[in-house]
Amino acid sequence: MPISDAKELLIPATEEGYAVGAFNITNLIQMEAVVEAHVERRAPLIIQTSVTPSKFLGQEVIVAITRTLADSAPIPICLHLDHCADVLYCKQCADLGWTNVMIDASKEPFEENIRQTKEVVDYCHALGGVSVEGELGTVSGVEDQVKVAEDAAQLCDPSQALDFVERTGVDLLAPAIGTAHGVYKTKNPKVDFERFAKIARAINGAVIRTPLVIHGGTGLPPDYVSKLIELGGSKFNVSTDLKRTLIDATYGYISEHREEYNPGKVDVAVKDAIRTKVNEWIDMLGSAGRI
Ligand SMILES: [Zn+2]
Repeated sequence: MPISDAKELLIPATEEGYAVGAFNITNLIQMEAVVEAHVERRAPLIIQTSVTPSKFLGQEVIVAITRTLADSAPIPICLHLDHCADVLYCKQCADLGWTNVMIDASKEPFEENIRQTKEVVDYCHALGGVSVEGELGTVSGVEDQVKVAEDAAQLCDPSQALDFVERTGVDLLAPAIGTAHGVYKTKNPKVDFERFAKIARAINGAVIRTPLVIHGGTGLPPDYVSKLIELGGSKFNVSTDLKRTLIDATYGYISEHREEYNPGKVDVAVKDAIRTKVNEWIDMLGSAGRI
């Protein structure tokens, strides 16, 4: 299928009570593993890259690979640019074929966040086929070298959320609700479900207009994931889980086969491990069999 924008995948997900996984990839093996798992389970998929890997691999290369994989896949696949603080880079990626871009101006004052987000929204909507994600409040942790201390993290103000969505025309909103990037230091991370419910009610009510995104998926307990889906979360970003799986599977294979010099076998081990991890997420999100 041709690559899809994110909004068209997420509105039915929100309405039907499941979520779509948005998996951060840094190389081809990860990308193929993520696609294969979703094709096997007939689940819609969002592939995403942070800005650094998109520059390292090349924007055109990522678009070409995603289009090739998507064309032969019987599921809709969206290509998303994650946490981009640069308006111009968002526009470039949209021009080159990304189908969802996140302008992250969440560290700016509210009015400046609105201005930058609206600029990207207006550009992408004029282009067509590209949806835009904005962030309100600050998700703590480390994302693509940007560190936000947990005590400095500010949560999304529900009374500002509707104003932000209406004035920017943004397609998806990532509200900061206490989830964090990286690895949670506790088994019971403090997620503000009540705040999230208020935001969902304020923005969507009975009609889903602006799907909601949960950042910091890695390490969230499964019952938290279910609850956030129930309250209206329909895109879950998963990054650290895949990075750890890649490194652990590589290290594990090489440690056990120290005399072997066959990179293809390392790739197979990594791909299998990532496919298994992604399947766990498909189960948690309830996205299997939706296509
Ligand atoms: Zn994030």
